[in-house]
Amino acid sequence: MCTCKEQPALIEISNTHADFMSRLTQQDVGHWALLMSCPECNQLWRVDESVKYQPCYAVKISSRENWEEFDSESLIKEQMIENRGGLTQHYCMWSKCNFKKVKGSTLCVNHLWETGSRE
Ligand SMILES: [Zn+2]
Ligand SMILES: [Zn+2]
Repeated sequence: MCTCKEQPALIEISNTHADFMSRLTQQDVGHWALLMSCPECNQLWRVDESVKYQPCYAVKISSRENWEEFDSESLIKEQMIENRGGLTQHYCMWSKCNFKKVKGSTLCVNHLWETGSRE
């Protein structure tokens, strides 16, 4: 039995990439991403290519059309905030930024994202 249904919309698979991929069938190859499908339930997954020292994510997608353009950015940002334990009460140190800082950081999630952080 597959576990697609129980999985959240976005999962971090940095340490389980090979295992995760081994249960899926490759459908298409994109730019640093692969379109995979589950042979049991046909769920489509957009999976980041495994890159050393970079966190790797898989997101559920509902259609094969424009799968490569599927915007996982907001989902990953939510995950980044969660990984860090939430937001603080203070604003991002970036000048004129109105977003709250993420715990343990001086920046908001958008500016963290701009520095290339994905975890
Ligand atoms: Zn499945
Ligand atoms: Zn900011």
